[in-house]
Amino acid sequence: MKNRVESETRESGANWTLYSARGVEYVAPEPEPEGAQIWFFTRRGGVSKAPFDSLNISTAVPDEPEAVFENRDRIRTAMDGRDSAWIRQVAGDGVAWVRETGLAGEADALVTEEEGFALVVAIADCVPVALVGGEARTVGMVHSGWRGTIAEISAKAAREMGDTGALRAYIGPCIRQCCYEVSEELAERFAGRFGPEVVEGRYLSLPDAIRQNLEEAGVGEVHDLGLCTGCRPDLFFCHRKQGPRTGRNLAAVARLS
Ligand SMILES: [Zn+2]
Repeated sequence: MKNRVESETRESGANWTLYSARGVEYVAPEPEPEGAQIWFFTRRGGVSKAPFDSLNISTAVPDEPEAVFENRDRIRTAMDGRDSAWIRQVAGDGVAWVRETGLAGEADALVTEEEGFALVVAIADCVPVALVGGEARTVGMVHSGWRGTIAEISAKAAREMGDTGALRAYIGPCIRQCCYEVSEELAERFAGRFGPEVVEGRYLSLPDAIRQNLEEAGVGEVHDLGLCTGCRPDLFFCHRKQGPRTGRNLAAVARLS
């Protein structure tokens, strides 16, 4: 049973819904997986001032720490009081098995068999990928920029969770091909690894590369929400469009009891 904490629907797309929980807005996949809950938090509903307005969750950017702590509190409330487990993200391919809340070390993906708390990553254009295992006995959350994508971190996290055929993957809001021009060299590297269909000229599709990678790993269902952080600066922080002085969005997944 999903707990929406006084949520109301604000907007919806083909396979996602934007909810507001006491003013904190997040996107959830449509339909949602049974046995787990996924929150792709937007930038709306926090207290940070521009350019971190308003739901920035990172103290690694020069935002007011008090504002960030208040934002995290609001997110905790929106997640029905759940605490979180997080990682020090290093754009690598490390997968951390998590048993409790708090910092789980240096990695770019977390997986757990526990319930009662959320696995979270911080995002500004990179791709958040939520993973839900068979009968929701395990969940995972991946942070995949171009480095993590070429290092195949999503497939690695999926294999860690086991029984990949029963896994469902949800590719969250990220910088998409329409807004993601890269160097010729990087475009060629991706075309060489994932096939020419993931690039168009120098425009790279990380979500398509990740989808292919997950399918290669045998993941049963891959859902892509199709939301672009570059096209929706009203909803998401975007490093590409706003520069380094921008906030970080939180992506979260939890098992439901
Ligand atoms: Zn775009």
